[in-house]
Amino acid sequence: MTEITKLTVYEALNGLKKKDFTALELTEAYLRNMESGKKYNAYITESADVALQQAKEADKRYAAGTARALEGIPLGIKDLFCTKDIRTTAASHILDNFVPPYESTVTQHLLDDGAVFLGKLNLDEFAMGGSNETSYFGPVINPWSKDKPLVPGGSSGGSAAAVAAHLCAAATGTDTGGSIREPAAFCGITGIKPTYGRCSRYGIVAFASSLDQAGPIAQDVRDCALLLKSMAGFDDKDSTSCDVAVPDYEKFLDGDVRGLTFGLPKEYRPDGLNPEVSAYWDKAAEYLKARGANIKEISLPHTKYALATYYVLAPAEASSNLARYDGIRYGFRAKEGQHLDDLYINTRTQGFGAEVRRRIMIGTYVLSAGYYDAYFLKAQKMRRLIYNDFMNAFKQCDVILTPTSPITAFPIGDESMLQNPINMYLNDVFTVSVNLAGLPALSLPIGLSADGLPYGMQLIGKPFDEGTLFNAAAKLEADAKFERK
Ligand code: GLN
Repeated sequence: MTEITKLTVYEALNGLKKKDFTALELTEAYLRNMESGKKYNAYITESADVALQQAKEADKRYAAGTARALEGIPLGIKDLFCTKDIRTTAASHILDNFVPPYESTVTQHLLDDGAVFLGKLNLDEFAMGGSNETSYFGPVINPWSKDKPLVPGGSSGGSAAAVAAHLCAAATGTDTGGSIREPAAFCGITGIKPTYGRCSRYGIVAFASSLDQAGPIAQDVRDCALLLKSMAGFDDKDSTSCDVAVPDYEKFLDGDVRGLTFGLPKEYRPDGLNPEVSAYWDKAAEYLKARGANIKEISLPHTKYALATYYVLAPAEASSNLARYDGIRYGFRAKEGQHLDDLYINTRTQGFGAEVRRRIMIGTYVLSAGYYDAYFLKAQKMRRLIYNDFMNAFKQCDVILTPTSPITAFPIGDESMLQNPINMYLNDVFTVSVNLAGLPALSLPIGLSADGLPYGMQLIGKPFDEGTLFNAAAKLEADAKFERK
């Protein structure tokens, strides 16, 4: 392992500025790691030529004194962001030959700030999943695996594994129901799902449009702050993008937590909650208290309906969004078939994997005329009640502190998850409400389990209050000392 690839983004920027190494050297070091790290299956497409070109450009800018905010920082991009002239697959057979003629707004922001793109990272197919096992390109292996290969979490499993294994300095992710936070937790790193509308969705392959948000996955809180500053911002190409100024998030890192009130929702501690999860949660609360914060038990009474609500609404939106993949205009087209219907049916049957087909079926069902009121409409009403729960809670606290996931990374191919998708969905119990309410939430590593696997802690904030999350997370991070990868 080349040592410069162990640096955080912040440290690497300093190294580049001080001319300790060049952007080309840094990029080449990551490309070597990618070669030796192929066993993780983190990348779907590598873009070495593009990266080397961008790195040379970055070195010219450092020499000329015109370096930008992320000049020469090698990033991995979740393969859900359209990247101009670089294949973008959404980890699906149906898009495995798709080369976008345009760039997503978020990746354009990163390019405009001088980032280097190493390649496109693996994920669950169309970001549907919590283990990265639904990818057409095969599962990603968690770098924390010991005797047997473990999942990295999903859907941004390639992003989390690549950051943890130093196959990129940081990565982009997307989060519809936990897909930034859960893999970050499983891989012992940090990620933030910003407020809905904070980052533009333009050019991100859509899963569930009212829930999808882009965000960074990185080695630590400061790197997430640096990355989000670049990724965020109003975009008139996305009608749900919000015209709210993006603060300099790094400024929040030196703040303190005195006087802040952290709410601990009692519904997140059901009987039978893993005692290790419970213990880390209490430890984090005590740590914050010792630094002058107030800790308060709060209630989010509709929590028990969150998973059911999410797994009606997300498939409903997915079934509508995925209707565009018909084999006519772009992507995979099945060869057999006499009639137009055959073309659609064969293309979609062969092009989509089992989990995506399941969601399309569920989504189409809950939107159908006879069931719309009973399922879709009911779920929309419940979504509002869940949102109201949070708004009521935020009258009593500034930040909500919860675990990110009830479990640590599990083995690839675990029968109990794969045979029964509901078990997989249950892992999202602490993350989906945040998306339903459109709130920002950050996951950071808090400690290891008895068998040496990382747990994540989640901080949920008020709309557009990512800054307070960075402040609190920076404090907690200082406490959670353990051997990183
Ligand atoms: N695990 C959740 C799902 O399968 C969340 C996925 C996501 O956030 N993209 O839908």
